[in-house]
This record gives sequence, C-alpha cells and structure tokens, in this order.
Amino acid sequence: MTLTQTTTADFHSVIAYPLHGNCYLNITSECTLRCGFCPKYKRSWEIQSYDLRLHREPTVDEVLAALGDPTRYQEVVFCGLGEPTVRYPEVLAIARAIKQAGGRVRLNTDGLASLREGRDVSAELAEVIDRASISMNAHNEAVYIRHTRPRLEGAYAAMLDFASRAQQAGIDVTLTAIDGLEGVDVAACERIATEMGLKFRRRVLDQVG
Ligand code: SF4
Repeated sequence: MTLTQTTTADFHSVIAYPLHGNCYLNITSECTLRCGFCPKYKRSWEIQSYDLRLHREPTVDEVLAALGDPTRYQEVVFCGLGEPTVRYPEVLAIARAIKQAGGRVRLNTDGLASLREGRDVSAELAEVIDRASISMNAHNEAVYIRHTRPRLEGAYAAMLDFASRAQQAGIDVTLTAIDGLEGVDVAACERIATEMGLKFRRRVLDQVG
C-alpha cells in the first residue's frame, strides 16, 4: 500500500491503514449497535493516530486501490468505527478480490450479519473470510443490551448463533470482550466461548486489533 488516504477533492478519509503488520479497512461508520463505550459517541474518531471519520463511504474500487497488494500484510482486516457487514455486498466483493490476489482476510464484526440480512450468511462469508473476531461484549443478554444498545431484537442470541455457524462453515472464530466494562464478567465470557468450542480474546478499550 502506498497511500492510506484517498485524495479526491471531496474525500480525505483514512480507508486503509497499516498497523501491527496488518492493513485495516475502514469502509463505513454505520452500526447495528450503539455501544456506550464507542469513541464515536464521544465525538472521537481517532484510533491510534488515524482519523477514521468518513465523509462518505468508499467504493469497492477505492478500498482496493487504497489497500494495494494485500500479500504485503499478514492479514487484511475489516475494522473501523462502524460495522463492516452493514455493507454486506461490498464486504464480499472486497474480500473476494483480496483472496484472489493471495491475501488473508479477517472480519472484525458485531456478528449480526445474518440477523440483519434475514438469512444465514455464514457459509457465504466463509468462502472469502479466513478469520473473524466477533464482539461478544457480555456474558448475558441483559448486560449486552445495556452496553451495546442494539437496534435489532434478539441480537445477543443471534451473535452467538452466527459465531457458531461461522466456525462450522470454516471461519476461524474468536469471541472478544472488553476488560473493565461495568458488569461484564470477562471470565464468564471466556467460559461461554470455550463451551462453544471457540477461541476467546480479552480486548482493551479503544485499541485496534
Ligand atoms: S459496534 Fe463498534 S463502531 Fe459500532 S457502536 Fe459499537 S463500538 Fe462503536
């Protein structure tokens, strides 16, 4: 990648940024969730010195141009201050192009793509996604709702169901929860992940990974 920013007159946002040997793609600011801990609700769009505010959503071609050769990175990761799969067709198109170019793809997601699309999309995603980090966020539905304020009914169960199906479809799934959020029992989150046969990772607030 030579550029991390598009430079057209109306669009100067970071849509591809290198970090930890990976390249992260920032394709939308829209979310299914409205997490109380989200930096954007504190009007802070800067993550590890990258300004992730988008003035418009980049096209598939713009994202691929900003990325360049995906094989220069360990992984290309969909991860911004928005949920990538709200642009589901674009995620598939970008990921497919990366795979065809020999890259590896990780999806950092709320795990609600199937709920939002109204059908099970895990097998379709497994064709183009190698790994997924899914924000579990809490050890039960009540705490999950308190922190993430989902726009859709049944989000917690749908997220866990998606995680399980995605793993069965061949995606290497890791559930994540953030250390230090009030009422979140991270050890209990890890137990649930383990019982489901999934990996688990503690996250640090506001740190991209
Ligand atoms: S899913 Fe991520 S980007 Fe969306 S509101 Fe929650 S923390 Fe913010």
